Amino acid sequence: MSIKDNIDAIKSEIGDATLICVSKYHTDDEIMEAYNSGQRDFGENKVQDMVKKAENLPKDIRWHLIGHLQTNKVKYIIGKTCLIQSVDRVELAELIDKKSENAGIVTDILVQVNSTGIESRFGVEPDKTIEFIKNISGLKNIRIKGLMGMAPICDNPAPYFESLKKLFDECKGQNLLDGDILSMGMSGDYKYAVKCGSNMVRIGSKIFMHSANE
Ligand SMILES: *Cc1c(COP(=O)(O)O)cnc(C)c1O
Repeated sequence: MSIKDNIDAIKSEIGDATLICVSKYHTDDEIMEAYNSGQRDFGENKVQDMVKKAENLPKDIRWHLIGHLQTNKVKYIIGKTCLIQSVDRVELAELIDKKSENAGIVTDILVQVNSTGIESRFGVEPDKTIEFIKNISGLKNIRIKGLMGMAPICDNPAPYFESLKKLFDECKGQNLLDGDILSMGMSGDYKYAVKCGSNMVRIGSKIFMHSANE
């Protein structure tokens, strides 16, 4: 299977959900193969990698930052992302807001929820998420487009996706979101995620696997 075949196969399974091609371990050439098959949304988890790839690659690529974002790196990515999917601290949201204001732009973000049920340094705890969003909702230069989360690696990820969907619906019900994005699902579990209401999947290994010998 080529990268294009993999992308086509995944697209046929995810309906209207947006496919983010997670290119974090992959070269510019591999990314171009996905690009040439029509893919435009790409995800990176490191600021330096994203900035470097964005410099070298076509300007109509929409870059998603999906990894942990340190506050000292924010300045490098303002104006360069389509969506920062990993906002999980008030001070991070405030800094993105401030730098965006300085640049005269509004930055689209997702709130990363720690939906794994495992203690983690990353992601807002589910029962703190509504309060978190209320705390940052006054910031004028960020737009909270939705939520991002993951399931743990396990036999049945569906309950984790279902509870994140429920939280997403609660946020929408309270008019806390400026968008409709629920980003959940990776190579191993995206089919469950889409069934549970995901409308954005982030897939890396399943797109790029076996591509080295094609
Ligand atoms: C790496 C990564 C993915 C993609 O993982 P695959 O299993 O390669 O599909 C999705 N989301 C996040 C946040 C990641 O870091």
